[in-house]
Amino acid sequence: MEKEITQEAEFDQGFGICIIQYNFINGVEMKYVYFFGDGKAEGKSEMKNELGGKGANLAEMTNLGIPVPPGFTLNTDTNTAFFDAGGSIPDEAVEQSKEAVSKVEAIMGRKFGDTENPLLLSVRSGARMSMPGMMETVLNVGLCGATIPGMIKQSGNERFVYDAYRRLITMYSDVVMEKAAGIEFEDEEMAIRPQLEKLLKKVKKDNGYKMDTDLSAEDLKQLCEEYKVKVEEILGNKFPDDPWEQLWGGIGAVFQSWRGKRAISYRRIENIPEEWGTAVNVQTMVFGNMGEESATGVAFTRDPSTGDPHFFGEWLVNAQGEDVVAGIRTPNALNVYCKQPGKSDQLPSLEEAMPDMYKQLVDIRDNLETHYHDMQDLEFTIENGRLWMLQTRTGKRNGIAAVRMAIDMAEEGLIDEKTALTRVRADQLEELLHPMLDPGAETKAVVLTKGLPAGPGGAIGKIVLNSERAWEMGEKGEKLILVRLETSPEDVAGMRAAEGILTAYGGMTSHAALVARGWGKCCVVGCGDLDINYKDRTVKVAGKTLKEGDWITLNGTKGIVYEGEVPVANADPISNEWYKKLMLIAAKTSRLEIRTNADTPEDAAIARKFGARGIGLTRTEHMFFGEERIRNMRWMILSESVAERKEALDILLPYQRDDFYGILKAMSPFSVTIRLLDPPLHEFLPQKDDQKKIEEIAEDLHVSDYEIKSRIAQLHEFNPMLGHRGCRLGVTMPEITRMQVRAILEAAAKLTQEGVEVHPEIMVPLVGNAKELEHQRKNIVEVAEKVKDEIGIAELDYKIGTMIEVPRAAVTADEIAQHAEFFSFGTNDLTQMTCGFSRDDAGSFLPQYVDMGIYEDDPFKSIDQKGVGELVRIAIEKGRGARSNIHLGVCGEHGGDPESIHFFHKLGLDYVSCSPFRVPIALIAAAHAALED
Ligand code: PEP
Ligand code: MG
Repeated sequence: MEKEITQEAEFDQGFGICIIQYNFINGVEMKYVYFFGDGKAEGKSEMKNELGGKGANLAEMTNLGIPVPPGFTLNTDTNTAFFDAGGSIPDEAVEQSKEAVSKVEAIMGRKFGDTENPLLLSVRSGARMSMPGMMETVLNVGLCGATIPGMIKQSGNERFVYDAYRRLITMYSDVVMEKAAGIEFEDEEMAIRPQLEKLLKKVKKDNGYKMDTDLSAEDLKQLCEEYKVKVEEILGNKFPDDPWEQLWGGIGAVFQSWRGKRAISYRRIENIPEEWGTAVNVQTMVFGNMGEESATGVAFTRDPSTGDPHFFGEWLVNAQGEDVVAGIRTPNALNVYCKQPGKSDQLPSLEEAMPDMYKQLVDIRDNLETHYHDMQDLEFTIENGRLWMLQTRTGKRNGIAAVRMAIDMAEEGLIDEKTALTRVRADQLEELLHPMLDPGAETKAVVLTKGLPAGPGGAIGKIVLNSERAWEMGEKGEKLILVRLETSPEDVAGMRAAEGILTAYGGMTSHAALVARGWGKCCVVGCGDLDINYKDRTVKVAGKTLKEGDWITLNGTKGIVYEGEVPVANADPISNEWYKKLMLIAAKTSRLEIRTNADTPEDAAIARKFGARGIGLTRTEHMFFGEERIRNMRWMILSESVAERKEALDILLPYQRDDFYGILKAMSPFSVTIRLLDPPLHEFLPQKDDQKKIEEIAEDLHVSDYEIKSRIAQLHEFNPMLGHRGCRLGVTMPEITRMQVRAILEAAAKLTQEGVEVHPEIMVPLVGNAKELEHQRKNIVEVAEKVKDEIGIAELDYKIGTMIEVPRAAVTADEIAQHAEFFSFGTNDLTQMTCGFSRDDAGSFLPQYVDMGIYEDDPFKSIDQKGVGELVRIAIEKGRGARSNIHLGVCGEHGGDPESIHFFHKLGLDYVSCSPFRVPIALIAAAHAALED
């Protein structure tokens, strides 16, 4: 192609901006305009990049023989050329548009600008991705002094014509003459739209009218004259009286609106590239407000909020599209199914009022669903008894509807099972699994503060600042939100009693976050703005002082705290048939095994119902907080000799054996990974200044306050997360390991004798050096041999493995694998130690880090693939190199994060383990990952 005849280049050396304008004279003509009408279109639905979503679908519908008002699309290249030419429509696009207008005229039997039988056009934007309300539209283009009489004759309705003219002047002056011309008013009230609205209000006031519809034809005619005077006064130019000038002005302004402020900020949020540009659709105007035989409506081919397969929608007789969404008139229901009690049930449905039109619409609905294999969102207009389709696009839906539609469509044969899986995003399942806030009520609620979304769902309750009080009030059936600076294992009973948990400190893997997620409870952490006063029982936030007993609402999916009560809808996934079917398909498709992190038989049972096949982490420390147990645990910690410690451990043994018996049985026949004691011992003692607790314990254990205080002082560490914890406890106090191992294996032996199939896996925490694991392994094997002897059984199935949560363990995984049959990546601690971020304190700055793009996401929520992920990769490679059949999984919180699961799938791990309520999300994410292979 010969292209360059003239080339103007302005090169701004200072900023390196180069503007080059090409004019094509001898070359092949660029195709800018795509016609559609009368059953034939030059475009098709695959051409969304060129024609935008709207244009491509208008073309597709036309080709399907669906009645679409004829028109044409100026493609996105025209937008690029428009900006390259400094904001003018390329000559070829003008010529091609004129030809397309002629074709439209021939189909409609009307002429653009004709005095007798004028054609009116709409000009609308349409980018590749829908950008609702971000760009501009001009309707009724072509109405002017010369065409108005013809339009009145054609419609027989003078009032309608002047109303359309009034709307054209408003839209055109605002969109073309003000915004696209770059005119901005410091005082927003001086802009043309509010100025014109003032004139309309005045006419209504002077005449005592309530509604716009009260204005007569004469009123509107007069108003249009006043509008034109005002336009010239405010914007300094006359409103154009020439149809073609209106058309080019409208097209140019829609192109220009791609660079409008609203569109730019929307693109930034949605990551839509600037260079895409928008297409422009020019289409014959059809009117739903021509009288009682006319109507307009919006519809979904299935119910977008429940997924029910009934046709769903709303319509209004004698109205324009914007009237349906504006909410001034109550829209009628499309059919009996969508009648709303107390609202549209009093009004006739389209099915009742215009049965022929409804039947045609149902045929179109069937045609479009079969063609697109998905739920469509439709706009239609009926003009004098003739149905026109103005838009079809894939409809947005909530999580509940997404699941039902996916399964229904698979069963109807509209899509296959794999496609059904891809129709539900992993995060959409949250809506089925947790109580959710009513979205409408939420938009009106008062935000108190924001924090980290640590436990999804919604919760309402009275503020309570103390865990004991929470437990007591919970017993009385009160709905509560436990509000704490942070939580510790001692708060667990109060946390359980509360509907939701809110903390001032902590991050995504803080104690509050882990425990709440484990129970599927709503939780917001790290709300630094909360000024909590335990003594006065008040919380100051957002300039308000809330008292204990005041109601608040949490959105744990978004991390927002609201004042008062926002309505919540309960969740019931287990009785949802569609959800269950989807999970079966996911389980069949996923390569990764999904296990759960569970510390009780109850949690294990919930996780099984959700589809977990095994436990990837039982944290045994949570088992020591019952009254009798904590007493003996403390005694064990205070013991001065090994003999005394063993005595205390002997008392704890039967408790532990019962715990393991319950949990192994609940998960039979699947494997259960039980982790040996992990936290530093000081966590089981009171704070050093909690005199009351210290005295209570001293009395109970028959020791002095001093003894307790000095042990607390001995155990104090400046950096307990890097201190005497994990296997370091087991190495220095092997009797703890031996008690726990005995409890696990005695429980397993008992179950085996009872005929219950069990597979315990004993997991050593926080190993950083192969010798630590070698030491622990020796102790474990010795105890196992003893237990077998004592019970008299020859074979006892169990495995020994370790967590990989210290960077040194990852890089020496080949040595560690010599002593481990499995690795479970503890990515919470691995992230803490690799990034050097405290799990409990990083919430104070990590959100800012994410905002600034230093980390793409919170590394405690979604795995830091480059850093922590690389260590996982190295450990897998070295681990498998040393022991080819080593079983590999993840039990950190990342095991329930969809993005991290994709990454773990690619790395070739065998399983992920997550809290029970995340099991379904993990399953579907794992299935999605498998489909990508
Ligand atoms: C981890 O560190 O990832 C882990 C699972 O252990 P915890 O969260 O109990 O430290
Ligand atoms: Mg850990």
